[in-house]
Amino acid sequence: MSEIQQELLEIVTQVRTHLEYQKALGVTVVESLTLPAPAAAIDAQPVIKSVKAAAPAPQEPENKKTTATLSPPASSGTLSSVREELGDCTRCKLSNGRHSIVFGEGNPEARLVFIGEGPGQEEDQQGRPFVGAAGQLLTDIIVKGMLLKREDVYICNIVKCRPPGNRNPEPDEIEACEPFLIKQLQAIHPQVIVALGNVAVKTLLKTKAGITSLRGAWQTYQGIPLMPTFHPAYLLRAPGDKKLVWEDIKKVMAEMEKNR
Ligand code: URA
Repeated sequence: MSEIQQELLEIVTQVRTHLEYQKALGVTVVESLTLPAPAAAIDAQPVIKSVKAAAPAPQEPENKKTTATLSPPASSGTLSSVREELGDCTRCKLSNGRHSIVFGEGNPEARLVFIGEGPGQEEDQQGRPFVGAAGQLLTDIIVKGMLLKREDVYICNIVKCRPPGNRNPEPDEIEACEPFLIKQLQAIHPQVIVALGNVAVKTLLKTKAGITSLRGAWQTYQGIPLMPTFHPAYLLRAPGDKKLVWEDIKKVMAEMEKNR
């Protein structure tokens, strides 16, 4: 098979996967696609070209307050220096029961960062974020929905150690971990952040408002457009809401497209 034939085959496969993904979500109207650039030229670029409505300009959340924790540290390092500073962390009680620290993974220069809540059992075992059942769903959103590679984006969590029994992280645990997340985001400096679920949204935006009321509406985190959406673990329990997440993700793709 020639190089061009090979490329065409890859594009057809990608488009088919994408359409099947949309069909599974119950989407009946197909929106236009632009063909992906040759593999080497794809650098975390979404290939979905048009969406029905232009994304609204990101807005400051009403209840957003900038706290001392959120202000940038004097100097921002690289992801490796942040990992080094974290060390074999024992800053909170989550260190007692963890198997591994789940620092985060992906492109250190990602244009898009997904932030979840905290590692589950599988993540704790593997030391990687979103590799369990919820992770598969997130990977599908990235790969089948957005037509990106998982390694093009960056994926991390509000806390880096597994809360026992998958309970929500407690305020003191979040407080101990948050400075490292802030530094990670400063090192990456993404174009867009997607906050997955209540814990991520409440921590990042310092709001008491819940994900149900916030999802789908642009917010701002440290000057970066932030899209709140449902957590994939919630979607495992409420698959009917995958469609809503897809609406939110389309806004994210449109925003990234604007800044290509
Ligand atoms: N849920 C999360 O919030 N993060 C993970 O890494 C896995 C599941």
